[in-house]
Amino acid sequence: MNSLKDFPYKHVLVLGLAKSGTAVASLLRKQNVYVRVNDKNASEEDENVKSLRAEGIEIILGSHPIHVLDDIELVVKNPGIPYDHDIIVEAEERGLPIFTEIEIASKLIDNPIIGITGSNGKTTSTTLVTQMMQSSKVPVKVAGNIGEVASEIVQTLTDHEQLVLELSSFQLMGIHEFKPHVAVMLNLFEAHLDYHKTFENYVKAKCNIFMNQTTDDYFVYNEDDIHIVAASQHVKSQKVPFSIKKPLKKGGWIDDTYLYFNDEAIIKLEDIVLVGSHNLENILAAVCAAKISGATNDGIRHVLTTFQGVKHRLQFVEEINERLFYNDSKATNMLATEKALKSFKKPVILLCGGLDRGTNFADLIPFLQNVKAIVTFGETKNQFAKLAEEANIQNVSIVDSMDEAVHQAYEYSDRGDVILLSPACASWDQYPTFEKRGDMFIDSVNTLK
Ligand code: ADP
Repeated sequence: MNSLKDFPYKHVLVLGLAKSGTAVASLLRKQNVYVRVNDKNASEEDENVKSLRAEGIEIILGSHPIHVLDDIELVVKNPGIPYDHDIIVEAEERGLPIFTEIEIASKLIDNPIIGITGSNGKTTSTTLVTQMMQSSKVPVKVAGNIGEVASEIVQTLTDHEQLVLELSSFQLMGIHEFKPHVAVMLNLFEAHLDYHKTFENYVKAKCNIFMNQTTDDYFVYNEDDIHIVAASQHVKSQKVPFSIKKPLKKGGWIDDTYLYFNDEAIIKLEDIVLVGSHNLENILAAVCAAKISGATNDGIRHVLTTFQGVKHRLQFVEEINERLFYNDSKATNMLATEKALKSFKKPVILLCGGLDRGTNFADLIPFLQNVKAIVTFGETKNQFAKLAEEANIQNVSIVDSMDEAVHQAYEYSDRGDVILLSPACASWDQYPTFEKRGDMFIDSVNTLK
């Protein structure tokens, strides 16, 4: 393993023991740093607590007493812990630097990093870039919010591998010297304001992704997003825009027939499997990042003609008797279902409903034009049945189970129709997670074969 570069800190407090806290504590200990871990919720019986203790790490559980800061030179904070937390406020008063885990992880490697952020579409774009590089035989590993934590992956990285990182605003807020060679910014919507307090703070955190870039680096950004265009005035690296709205001389763009990178047609739009204009943005971002990082057109085409979507995110599941089944169980709010409905021109049978948060679903009506039947379940089933009536949709069924829903949807369907699970509600009234709900949809679809 490499040594940490420019790392003068000998006594480090790791605050918060989730997956990333455990990994970074262990990484620092291997570098002969004295590590103290403090977590409120973990228990002495937890496997990670036992193994960290065995590695010689001091562990303080149950509360966050101020004395955990004594003799400490650096705090590594779990990204979820807010900056107004008592310990963080005290650490700042003592003048201690506060890092997050990816900062430490990146100090261990010289490999180029492709960092991907945005309010929505991070997982999809990160997956696309990674697969485009893999299918072009460009050595790559992936970490961050998606899958494994960066501190673990960097310990396994070989010299020629590039690292793709999915980055949240929480992770980016703690950046000091972290620098991706390729930074991707997909979009900026109001999000996580409970944590960041204002939209300006949120945008500022996201913009840390390009803060340390130089003219040797690249900034791939959404030219159609006014907030990003405004923020990108301060970018020092080479700008690579993408747009689904206008032709560009440089970067990623589309016309009615093709998707282009610079002046090169990469693929016919009709050959792309992923549906939805939001996914087209994710694809353009991924193509730009992958092209800069050495992917081939063949590699990119292979992914775009086969990739069926990240699981539960408008994922194409199956075609059965010319009916197309899509699993969008991650659509736990109306906006996501709106995006899903906008993605289809064919007639849709919509499976929806779930946890009742008092939402008024009337805003969905304009997007129900292609919907020929609604099958609804969960706490909000009566609201959706009423909505169907208001939207003049004749075929409506209220059902109890996913299996019933899928079979009823099939009854309503004709050849060429789309059967779409996009619930517009959280799953917790009937399922432990949205993943479980999506899996049950897939299982039920498979019984139709
Ligand atoms: P993230 O990792 O940022 O949460 P995902 O790729 O998991 O994003 O997608 C989650 C949901 O966000 C999708 O199901 C879709 O509703 C929405 N979404 C995805 N990409 C975009 C985009 N480019 N613009 C707007 N919404 C998007």
